[in-house]
Amino acid sequence: MAYGPLLFGHTPPFLRDLDALAARGVVYGSTAPDELALAERVRACLPSMETLRFTTTGSEAVQSAVRVARAFTGRDAILKFSGNYHGHFDIALHDAGASAETPHAERSGIPRAALADLAVARYNDLDDVDRALASAGDRLAAIVVEPICANMGLVPPAPGFLAGLRERADRCGAMLIFDEVITWLRLGLGGAQSRVGVVPDLTTVGKVLGGGFPIAAFGGRADVMAVLAPDGPCFTGGTHAGMPFAVAVATRVLDHLDAHASLHADMNARARRLADSLRATLRDLALPYAVVQLESIVDFKFRPGAATRSYDDQARDDQHAYAAFYHAMRERGVLLPPSHNEVMFLSAAHGDDDVTFTATAADAALRELRARGII
Ligand code: PMP
Repeated sequence: MAYGPLLFGHTPPFLRDLDALAARGVVYGSTAPDELALAERVRACLPSMETLRFTTTGSEAVQSAVRVARAFTGRDAILKFSGNYHGHFDIALHDAGASAETPHAERSGIPRAALADLAVARYNDLDDVDRALASAGDRLAAIVVEPICANMGLVPPAPGFLAGLRERADRCGAMLIFDEVITWLRLGLGGAQSRVGVVPDLTTVGKVLGGGFPIAAFGGRADVMAVLAPDGPCFTGGTHAGMPFAVAVATRVLDHLDAHASLHADMNARARRLADSLRATLRDLALPYAVVQLESIVDFKFRPGAATRSYDDQARDDQHAYAAFYHAMRERGVLLPPSHNEVMFLSAAHGDDDVTFTATAADAALRELRARGII
């Protein structure tokens, strides 16, 4: 599922008449009416994005949001969370989850100087946030967070965690940035922010928006985004940012979701069935691993005990067992993400048969691992 964008599968039903799109020109180097119309539709779904700008990738969207926060506050320091993933720019990569495990900054090409303005805290741990803010608080430009994290396994925010971040950002005069690159549209049109009861200053979106094509966006409070050039001194841009082809496909993504009101409910029911099947196998094998499912995201880790709350928990899972599971699943025709930090995404193209196929493969793979003494 390509790390999340394919909410509609590999060949979305709306990918037709592409010649007509291409005939309109592939890139203009200028904002076009369709781009404005798309921006208005994004804002209608996520009202906190009062002003927004398109980028090509999620990495650029987060990097741009961070720059806007720094320009608006006139400060440098950023607080982020270990195990969250925000793309492959310097500060985002440090202590990141997903497939990017770069524990040695100096050997990973991340400049030490870039890390001087970075504080990293434990997810779901406000005491640890306060520890980090004790040294960085008066220099803090932004707190960047996945409001529902899907890059160290699937980790929902603990009650009060995001409200605690909102309160601390306000107290420090810093921006709160929600990275919804995975969650927006996968969790419905309102994304994570419509569920958690906390409004960020800035938001980033991507992945599902392009239906597999490269488009992402960042945006938020109009007074904050006003720092952007040409009105303000803060520049972001990109040759392909908001390219008409990707804008047209993204428009079709939103049209498709509008026209298929039950898409999420059907997909989520299948994800629930997959999670239930995994639980049944694990119970049968007396393996006390927590299976977590939220809408179309399903996850379990090779670690006994409660579901993951932070990257410290995730660091204790059995990576060797996951690697063996990955190969055992692949031999049975199911391609999982190769990193143990990633999650399983369902798409609307998955039918009941696919769920049965996957659950059967997982059952057999887990029994094989047990027979080989791995779990
Ligand atoms: N933020 C989050 C939460 C992500 O999961 C990802 C990609 N996995 C990114 C940002 C970066 O997006 P991209 O790969 O499009 O640069």
